[in-house]
Amino acid sequence: AKAQGRNTWHWFEGTTTVVHNEYVTLRRELMEAIEQEQFVLYYQPIVAADSGIVRGMEALVRWQHPERGFVSPGDFIPLAEQTGQIVAIGQWVLHRACSDLADWNARMDRRMPVSVNISPLQFRRYGFLDEVRRVLDITGLEPELLELEVTENVLMSGAGQAIETLREIRKLGVKVSIDDFGTGYSSLRYLRQLPINKVKLDRSFIMDITENSDNAAIVQGVITMAHHLGLIVVGEGVETAEQAADLRHRECDLLQGFLFSRPVPFDQLDLSGSINR
Ligand code: C2E
Ligand code: CA
Ligand code: CA
Ligand code: CA
Repeated sequence: AKAQGRNTWHWFEGTTTVVHNEYVTLRRELMEAIEQEQFVLYYQPIVAADSGIVRGMEALVRWQHPERGFVSPGDFIPLAEQTGQIVAIGQWVLHRACSDLADWNARMDRRMPVSVNISPLQFRRYGFLDEVRRVLDITGLEPELLELEVTENVLMSGAGQAIETLREIRKLGVKVSIDDFGTGYSSLRYLRQLPINKVKLDRSFIMDITENSDNAAIVQGVITMAHHLGLIVVGEGVETAEQAADLRHRECDLLQGFLFSRPVPFDQLDLSGSINR
């Protein structure tokens, strides 16, 4: 074959051929994965910074590949986003997470919320709102117990439409948090205009919060301003007791990270008491 149009593949050049073949293979395998539901959801607890009581959890998808074994989302979500397959995967994730939590809440007589990652393509797609409505309807999860995590760039680009979608989501009672906050181009000043509930401080700021005074200052600034705007702040990727203590001291509301728990299958979650670290 020869070069094709603008997306030029140099079929006879070693490396690109490999990359292209891998792309084609992975895309085909993802198609099978969607058809055969080879995905599983893991959940990571999110705890109150002061008490360690579990206040929620984030659903994180894994691909159980018949030969490759567990594939982490970092290795297939970006491709799925490119091919559009993220839409089908995201639908499965949303449905699964709502259904897991609706069942558990009904059984335990609790009101535990769940956070679901929404990819940019999924969020911008016409029909996304209907999908959310339908899933809540089918699973019976209270809208207030569903929280959608979107990255700030999703809201920045195509801002008008994004804000309209956010408003509609909020009308449903569903909550929205800004994921990986601090890594994109938005500012809290801009976020002020958005109907959101939470900001999740990216792990890169938390990682060296005890050594890097610049990052510590950024974290403090975000927390102070977010509180001023009535937003809840989550510290992501908390791995050490020192980081937890630091964030607590800065009045970060919620903490999430390996220190408290790695993501685990739903039935391995311990949601009974508090995780004190
Ligand atoms: P994210 O949304 O920022 O999710 C947090 C990631 O950090 C997860 O990685 C989690 O396992 C990891 N993590 C949590 N605590 C710690 C910690 O203390 N230390 C370290 N080093 N890592 C920690 P995971 O599960 O591999 O997911 C990676 C990314 O893939 C997610 O980042 C998210 O962007 C994407 N993703 C995962 N599941 C979904 C999904 O269902 N839909 C979409 N669209 N994206 C997803
Ligand atoms: Ca997330
Ligand atoms: Ca994140
Ligand atoms: Ca991230």
